[in-house]
Amino acid sequence: MADGSRPLPHSSPLFSNLSYVHPSPTSPWGTYLAQVDRVVPYIGELARWAETLRRPKRTLIVDVPLELDNGDIAHFEGFRVQHSLSRGPGKGGVRYHPDVTLEEVMALAAWMTVKNAAVNLPYGGAKGGIRVDPKMLSRKELERITRRYTSEIGVIIGPQQDIPAPDVNTNPQIMAWMMDTYSMNVGATATGVVTGKPLNLGGSLGRVKATGHGVFVTGREAMRRLKIPLEGARVSIQGFGNVGAPAAELFARSGAKIVAVQDHGGTLYNPGGFDVNALTAHVEQFGTVAGFTGGEAIGSEDFWSVQTDVLIPAALEGQITEARAARLTAKLVLEAANGPTVPVADDILAERGIVVLPDVICNSGGVIVSYFEWVQDFSSFFWSEEEVNQRLDKIITGALGHIWDTAERHKISLRTGAFVVACGRILTARAERGLYP
Ligand code: GLU
Repeated sequence: MADGSRPLPHSSPLFSNLSYVHPSPTSPWGTYLAQVDRVVPYIGELARWAETLRRPKRTLIVDVPLELDNGDIAHFEGFRVQHSLSRGPGKGGVRYHPDVTLEEVMALAAWMTVKNAAVNLPYGGAKGGIRVDPKMLSRKELERITRRYTSEIGVIIGPQQDIPAPDVNTNPQIMAWMMDTYSMNVGATATGVVTGKPLNLGGSLGRVKATGHGVFVTGREAMRRLKIPLEGARVSIQGFGNVGAPAAELFARSGAKIVAVQDHGGTLYNPGGFDVNALTAHVEQFGTVAGFTGGEAIGSEDFWSVQTDVLIPAALEGQITEARAARLTAKLVLEAANGPTVPVADDILAERGIVVLPDVICNSGGVIVSYFEWVQDFSSFFWSEEEVNQRLDKIITGALGHIWDTAERHKISLRTGAFVVACGRILTARAERGLYP
């Protein structure tokens, strides 16, 4: 299913386009642009509209001033990018990380557009972030920065405009502060303005573990199709947070062995399989896998060459580089993170026969249950966890089947197959709506 070796066309925006970003072939926006270039030959007449995908509809940069507990004033960069509103309101998370940039948020917003369309949710795509290390802030500072950021982006978010949600280093408490701030500003409680809220404030059962659950369900289905037995399968995971930990738990419970884990603090290896419950308890207490005694500490680069059947990058973008792709032993990569594989690495994996289940389907469980939360908030009628999970499984498995069939029909990678399905929907909406004026 190799299709990545196609050279970038001369019209590629990597060489022409937006004055405000300078992507490289392996940066998040450069990665996304290459993915768009690869889908264009397969979308027929809709290619006329393809440039739409390479330009975010709306990009907001805000200054977020914060009075620190010691009385000093600090300033942070905040972003909200609405990549596309063609199929509905913007939708996508908010990330707090010291490396957040406009270019990264643009790519993450664009991947939300593709993800929402790939699983056929009635949304466009958006993403936000603050360039801050939240570990350096007290709880009160975290609340103040969240409230000021929400107020600053308040001009473009709303239950029918654009609906934020958790992402890296954000959580239900932060969503509660966002919901409250927006509600105070509009003078009415507006639960539908964010998803991933606490249960007591209009949150949905099943949301916290939804992304990890979706990674497991799509991973199990991919393994079935590839004839990789789940029982005894070796699984390696990079990132043990909101997504990696629940995914590890579900794989371990189904008979797979988690043989390697890596996070910002360290890398551990245990060929017999970790006790995932004990590892999760350790991470809850210490904030990292480092120091856990149920495995051997190994070098961080060694993570990429351990003997494994399934690799789950569940951290940040750009982790599977050209060099690492050449060393992977896995048969299947489950992209729990957004944008973990750079284009040249995608090509190497395809040549090596390693199947990549792309982010836009693999990690879509989170936004699918966000959609359920939003629907429940509007109807003020809440579903059981069983109902949430049944509906999630049905949507995500159906979407995966459609993408798999599309990829096989065109003899292309699952990523390009997912982009064919998604971009078909996005650009059809674009063409049907027509250009205003
Ligand atoms: N941040 C998650 C993602 O990357 C969820 C977004 C949402 O629920 O809106 O898909």
